[in-house]
Amino acid sequence: MVKFLDNKLFRYLSVFLFLNSSILPVKSSSALAAWVLNTNGVLELRTKSNTNLKAYFQKANQIFGDRFWIDFPGELKNPRTIMGNGPIKEIRLGKPNKGKTRLVIEFNEETYLKPLTWRMVGLDQNRWRIKLFDPKYTFKKISEGQVVKRIGNIKENQKLIHKKKSDYNYLKLPDVKQNKFSVVLDPGHGGPDPGAIGIGGIRETDVVLEVSKIVKNLLSEKGVKVNLTRKNEIDLDLPPRVSIANNTDADIFVSIHANASRGKRRDINGLETFYYRGWRGRLLAKKIQKQILKVSPGSPDRGVKQGRFYVIKNTRMPAVLVEIGFLTGRLDARRLEKTTHRKRLAYAIAKGILEYLEKIG
Ligand SMILES: [Zn+2]
Repeated sequence: MVKFLDNKLFRYLSVFLFLNSSILPVKSSSALAAWVLNTNGVLELRTKSNTNLKAYFQKANQIFGDRFWIDFPGELKNPRTIMGNGPIKEIRLGKPNKGKTRLVIEFNEETYLKPLTWRMVGLDQNRWRIKLFDPKYTFKKISEGQVVKRIGNIKENQKLIHKKKSDYNYLKLPDVKQNKFSVVLDPGHGGPDPGAIGIGGIRETDVVLEVSKIVKNLLSEKGVKVNLTRKNEIDLDLPPRVSIANNTDADIFVSIHANASRGKRRDINGLETFYYRGWRGRLLAKKIQKQILKVSPGSPDRGVKQGRFYVIKNTRMPAVLVEIGFLTGRLDARRLEKTTHRKRLAYAIAKGILEYLEKIG
């Protein structure tokens, strides 16, 4: 793959090597949790605590431009390539071999870098920083996930929840019997698996988590017990999502996703809701689909369909999977970017759920 010793063709430089006693088992998930390459050329990473990082630089050759890469323990779920801009040609996330994750930053050919001055700095147990290039290059930030968790976060969130309540005072959601129903909401993807990546780098995991949390608040205010399968950016497989619903004897299960079209076609937009079996599942899907369409004018109705997705196939209660729009679609992505639209969608999903519970319960 890389010739280590041929100095004439390749200058290969180990930027830094962090020694650490903790070695993750081969099958564990990627230690890379989030990263951002900022406009000032600084790459920041968030990893699992006490992670072994290995960083490398390779000078350009006939095939590649200058490349910088970091290897992380743990296997990446979805290898992907993210288009660069400015001095960055592209950023790739791959698995060079089993049980590993590799983040590769490939520079354009004409870029002038000074790798000898590079230093990877550990900021705390799970954050890292390295300056890769100078601000003389214009560069638009690229990132996946939230690298910095602000200390003020909890307070801000509380304020937000408080604000949400007053925002929705004028909207009437159907009343259901208090403390009677239990709902499991499943925000799709999470952690190292961001799900669909859309226009401008908008990520499914972020969108669906925010929407799900608002749905939870709205339903809780109506006296419905709500369990979220995940509350933050964690890596969660499909079976535990199902067990949460099956073990808590939930009345319904709603998995929330956003779509991406093949070839990232910007002209493909629309909403759809899937169920696997039963008239109850179908009814729930219809109620939700009807409401989410109302708050998404102009976006096509792709309908209520039967789908064989793991989470709706293996849950024992009426279960649906909602696709709230295409992150790759021009119309949908522009809306899904905005919290106002996410709130509207959450309201619509909550309304569909409450209408269903009102009818069935
Ligand atoms: Zn998804």
